[in-house]
Amino acid sequence: MAQSRENVAAGTGIRRDFSLLIGGELVGSDTELDVINPALGTVFAVAPAATRKHLDDAVRAAREAFASWRATSYEHRAGLVKRFSQALRDRQNELAELLTREQGKPLSQSIAEIDRGAAQSDGMVSIEIPVEVLIDDAERRIELKYRPLGVVGIITPWNAPVNLALGPLVSALYTGNTAVLKPSPYTPLTTLKLGEIAREIFPPGVVNVLAGGDELGRWMTEHEGIDKISFTGSVETGKKVMAAAAGTLKRITLELGGNDPAIILDDVDPKAIAKKVFFASFVNSGQVCMAIKRIYAHEKIYDALCDALVEEAKKAKVGNGLDPDTTLGPLQNKMQYDKVREILEDTKRSGARILCGGEVPDGPGYFIPPTLVTDIDESSRLVREEQFGPVVPILKFSDVEDAIRRANDTRYGLSASVWTNDLERGKAIAERLEVGTAWVNQHRATSAFVPFGGAKESGFGRQYSIIGLKGYMEPEVISVAKK
Ligand code: NAD
Repeated sequence: MAQSRENVAAGTGIRRDFSLLIGGELVGSDTELDVINPALGTVFAVAPAATRKHLDDAVRAAREAFASWRATSYEHRAGLVKRFSQALRDRQNELAELLTREQGKPLSQSIAEIDRGAAQSDGMVSIEIPVEVLIDDAERRIELKYRPLGVVGIITPWNAPVNLALGPLVSALYTGNTAVLKPSPYTPLTTLKLGEIAREIFPPGVVNVLAGGDELGRWMTEHEGIDKISFTGSVETGKKVMAAAAGTLKRITLELGGNDPAIILDDVDPKAIAKKVFFASFVNSGQVCMAIKRIYAHEKIYDALCDALVEEAKKAKVGNGLDPDTTLGPLQNKMQYDKVREILEDTKRSGARILCGGEVPDGPGYFIPPTLVTDIDESSRLVREEQFGPVVPILKFSDVEDAIRRANDTRYGLSASVWTNDLERGKAIAERLEVGTAWVNQHRATSAFVPFGGAKESGFGRQYSIIGLKGYMEPEVISVAKK
């Protein structure tokens, strides 16, 4: 993907107005990344790709800035974060259009991503992290305080580049750390623009943004000047990050993949829930860590639910995200497009029944229509793997104990949901699901005040809430003997 500057034809209408942010300066590079618009399958922009030297410079700048940044108050840092989130809102339309061009999602959802990111940023900086008094008696006073770690390296994926950058970035900054942020090589552009906006608000070196390939992520996880890695991405890469971080005992937060089940009980009205279940499965064309990726439906409502979901699929409009009618955009990149097509072919070969969709149109663009699958074996790739695309299996159960067992029979444990009119029963089942978040009658509902993260191989640590913020800090006991 990286190529030298000379190889990029000048005057082709390709956007080149992107820079790295290092120590408060906007910086170019001799190597660049081609950025493809997935709705067209063609390059529409190039971004500078950071070298090892750029990383060293960024880490040095972040370390230097840390000394004075950590000494500022929570209130001061919260004030700057709020200015930052307001600046994102002020430039929302321009950022959203760029996000749609590089990521593919419908424009309204790009706008919503920026809105949500700004709102969650404001929410996070309203959370207090008090000094905890553990013991205070005649003998001694023992306090538990939290101090920043230093330089946080943030590595993000391509499915929600703005939101997934803002969560860790704001957590790091608010708690007094400085940051080096690296977006996915597939979607570096909006994140680089976030860097330009941050440059107008935060002191030099507090926020550094470097685009680059996977090797840049690897260098970050090994770098001696980085104290923590906040990584969002696949389970496979997450394991590499954890192994590499061991060399310097970096703190890590890993937000990894999922294979979320939704268990639909026999007492629901399938028509009443179909819209929500469809949206939670197919939004962003299924490229959401916490999308519903397996639907377990009770036999009593199974056929009616299948019909209602097919009706929803028929209403979906697949197309270029810049077209205002589009509700589902393309897969974000060729690699993911090929992977989902492969899983679809495997599903068809296995004899499973395609209820709707299933036929991939010829290009241009990486489009796959919303596809619902039934009569599928539990051991098939579509059920076992994280498909991360718009192909979703509906599986039948007659005994809820069996549904719980099958829902839990996975190495993933990000989130799950139970759908029922009996809230107590729903809650009791939710409590038995081996996940970081179990919802009842909803899915994909997150908040700045609620910890989010994975159980099992879906992650390590949490993002958001006071628990998430403390993950960017070192607990320190201050123990004073009074006599
Ligand atoms: P990925 O793991 O391929 O890449 C993620 C990032 O890691 C990219 O920036 C990449 O350049 C970088 N990277 C690659 N190799 C690296 C290495 N050896 N060391 C350090 N960094 C490296 O993931 P992806 O395909 O970009 O994203 C999709 C995955 O992300 C899905 O599995 C999805 O479920 C997951 N995800 C999880 C969450 C969550 O909050 N749990 C949110 C969104 C996406």
